Amino acid sequence: MLETTIAGSLPKPVWLAKPGVLWAPWALEGEALAVAKLDATMLSVAEQTRCGIDIVSDGEQARQHFVHGFLVGVEGVDFNRKKRIGIRNNRYEADCPTVVSALRRTGPVHSAEAKAARAATKNKLKFTLPGPMTIIDTLANEHYRDKVDMAMAFARLLNEEARELEALGVDVIQFDEPAFNVYMDEAVQWGIDALHVASEGLRCATAVHICYGYGIEANIKWKETLGQSWRQYEQVFPALDRSRIQQVSLECAASKVPLELIGLLKTKTVLVGAIDVASDVVETPEQVAATIRAATKFVDVERIMPCTNCGMAPMSRETAYGKLRALADGAAMVRKEV
Ligand code: ZN
Repeated sequence: MLETTIAGSLPKPVWLAKPGVLWAPWALEGEALAVAKLDATMLSVAEQTRCGIDIVSDGEQARQHFVHGFLVGVEGVDFNRKKRIGIRNNRYEADCPTVVSALRRTGPVHSAEAKAARAATKNKLKFTLPGPMTIIDTLANEHYRDKVDMAMAFARLLNEEARELEALGVDVIQFDEPAFNVYMDEAVQWGIDALHVASEGLRCATAVHICYGYGIEANIKWKETLGQSWRQYEQVFPALDRSRIQQVSLECAASKVPLELIGLLKTKTVLVGAIDVASDVVETPEQVAATIRAATKFVDVERIMPCTNCGMAPMSRETAYGKLRALADGAAMVRKEV
């Protein structure tokens, strides 16, 4: 009960990429980079296990960014043809690659690090993939009829990838859909359908992570515009509760999300974010325990998995792993009480 897990990413070692930066360039190249990515993956799995995390992830050590890590293995995306577009409904601008022809995977994208992670632990293993709606929100489109068409094309590629990951022994496949918090109507209209395409036929557990983003400047400014009560989840959760996705990951720590909204998830396992990723202050186990206890008022304890609010890629390793220890210790405290 109260198995702990993480939303996904962890900081990379300095020998792999510059710390504290999103989209940091790799510090190595060629064969040395390929080997270093796998070494970092095994290290991150070992560190999570040492911290007491039950369902560990590959830490996203082998990808530069949670979306573009998948795109580098997809034909039809031209990384040299970048367009400056507003993403997350113009929250910020980024130079995004362009889809110029029909999308096709050139081969397995994440198999190497999934194998390395699987071999490095007996714990359950989670693997994250970007969700279709979030992918298309960070791309320019010069080929598909419209963005839904493009999203469904990506969903089919994600399904191929997810089936391979499952075959390698991955226990949970999580789709990251921060865009669900921005385009709530579209999430209900077609975003969940796209997740169904991406997860079709999987026998392993499936999850979706929806959040308010890392603690980067653009996100902090956006959060200031959302007022005192963040109710975006309220629009998506009822539809998500009717979906075939089994787990929902959201942020609950130091957040203005009214906790009662998790009560809308009547049938799902809820990954309760009990670690604030927008702060470098390491939570105490007591604080983590308090967040979990508060969640049990709205969701049966059997359906709760304590988790981080979001990815931890931009943090220092010391801070990130300190937070993971607090997460495991806080969950252990509550486990003794129930
Ligand atoms: Zn997130």
